Amino acid sequence: MGLDKAIWNTYPSPDGRLYYVPYTVQGSPYRQWERRRLKQAMLSIERRTCIRFWQVNPRSGKFFTLPHTAKTIPLRSHAVIVNSRDGRCGTGIGRHRPGRNPVYLAGTVTVPGTVGLARKTRTCTVQRILLHELLHLLGLYHEHQRPDRDEHVIIHYNRVKRTHRHNYDTERSIEMHGLPYDYRSESWLCSWLV
Ligand SMILES: [Zn+2]
Repeated sequence: MGLDKAIWNTYPSPDGRLYYVPYTVQGSPYRQWERRRLKQAMLSIERRTCIRFWQVNPRSGKFFTLPHTAKTIPLRSHAVIVNSRDGRCGTGIGRHRPGRNPVYLAGTVTVPGTVGLARKTRTCTVQRILLHELLHLLGLYHEHQRPDRDEHVIIHYNRVKRTHRHNYDTERSIEMHGLPYDYRSESWLCSWLV
């Protein structure tokens, strides 16, 4: 996994050891178990990194209180986790814009069946997808977009839909930090993930 330049370094803790990612939740309300899974995915990242996700109240306006301090600071870049009703899972890479950085993580939706096809449920609220999108939010590209990926995998572009091909382009800005190619990365692209 490689890190992009626009990382979430805007809100360090006073001792400089942690970095907070303020976020709000919008869209349809999540079910209780969906909220629990989202928290679990965030915790899983927090346990292994200096990142701390910090939920802020969208009604609190343009400021938020830095955790464990009495410091109120302007809420500039923040993530907005959106439960859309369309089954969409996706986000930009890193802190890609000032202000709202949307992360589309649709809760469970049932897609009506057509003739001969059963109704299907879709959701982004499973651990694998939640981690995938949250890692994008933190600045990680897909593993197979590493500049050295051709030494490790073969991409069959002719089998990829034209509109999805950009997801298989290598990304020069990726810093690999000397880490070996990770075939078990959560940042492999699955057909329904972007
Ligand atoms: Zn992705």
